[in-house]
Amino acid sequence: MDPDPIEIANEVKNKVILHWNCRGLMEFPEVIRLHGSHIQEIYLKWNKLTTLPPWITELFNVTNLYMYGNRIEQLPVELGGMNQLTVLDLSANRLDLISTCIGNLSNLKSLFLNDNFIERLPVELSQLNNLEILSVSGNQIVALPEWTGSLPRLRELYVDNNQLRELPNRLTIAPELTMISVCSNRLKYLPLNGFLSAPYIRFDANEYLNYVSYPLLFQLLSQLRTTVVRDREYLAFGCFKTHYDTNVLNTNIKLYIKMKRLHEIDADVIIELPRQMLKIHEVHENVTCSLWELALRKIYTERYKHTLDVSVSPANVTILYKPLKNTKLDFTLSTSLYNLLTNGPTGICINSQCQQPIFTEAWIIIGINRYAESMITIVLCCSRSCAIVFAAHSNMTIDLHWHSIN
Ligand SMILES: [Zn+2]
Repeated sequence: MDPDPIEIANEVKNKVILHWNCRGLMEFPEVIRLHGSHIQEIYLKWNKLTTLPPWITELFNVTNLYMYGNRIEQLPVELGGMNQLTVLDLSANRLDLISTCIGNLSNLKSLFLNDNFIERLPVELSQLNNLEILSVSGNQIVALPEWTGSLPRLRELYVDNNQLRELPNRLTIAPELTMISVCSNRLKYLPLNGFLSAPYIRFDANEYLNYVSYPLLFQLLSQLRTTVVRDREYLAFGCFKTHYDTNVLNTNIKLYIKMKRLHEIDADVIIELPRQMLKIHEVHENVTCSLWELALRKIYTERYKHTLDVSVSPANVTILYKPLKNTKLDFTLSTSLYNLLTNGPTGICINSQCQQPIFTEAWIIIGINRYAESMITIVLCCSRSCAIVFAAHSNMTIDLHWHSIN
């Protein structure tokens, strides 16, 4: 028997929160348009809707819209007019593109787009200045845009079960991040610098991730209750094997490391460096740094005081911005220079007396840290002299031989 239309209309009139989950609805009910302009939250989970109606923008009191588990393939542009929305859940639908109109939802705090067919995040989402939770797990995303690290209020980022090969370097300088979850991707490395906000990072089941940087290791270790990690499995299940993704052609620097059956690792290892890194040196290499790299360091330190302290737990990163009124730097920056500076340095020189930012060129030390004996750790230094100082005083086993293979 069909429900009585008068009863339904009365239900809409009398409620502020409407729970109409699992009702087999094929369309967004018109009765909400007629009698529901006061409604604040709408739950239409597990129905059979294929889209949202253009008149949805007339529901100007709705702040929370839950459309989980429908069959939505496309969204009307009018959705962008629902400026008052703070929570939008479109998970478990059939979206392959994120409608750019979502970028107009300036009050949005939580956006859930899990389990769709999304391949990329449109740049319009970078306008979501109030967004605190972005959840896009279970999609086909290959790369996260650098601007995700510039969402000023972003606290939680969930991108599990996608195709990510790396994380944006800019996430390391995001101010409010407390959680990054990127399990079950194809990550080959994590950002090398420590994270400003020391977020909790979940990254299980990334089988090609086979090393971690020294500052990040100390931030990750602090997330564990125990201070001594002798088994890599405690830190991330399904990572730090000796696997290497041989199918992917790219120009990133790869290093071949001879392990000589050291510290439980029983095969030689190939690691891949982040794409920002263009030139690397060994401790004994007495060469001069390129002018390009020196210029980047100079320009960055004119504006920022970016420090890294690995002697405390968790490794502490601070950044202070110095707005320069009479700046000498107001020439037009080239795009690549601008991007490198806004994405933040790849690392900060590990020598605590030095703290120079490192962008594209570094002296690299590879070893095994005594707190995580089955994990390869890399250290960035700004110069040969800083590398020598670190090598002499570190607690790492660094007698591993390595060479670059591309
Ligand atoms: Zn240095």
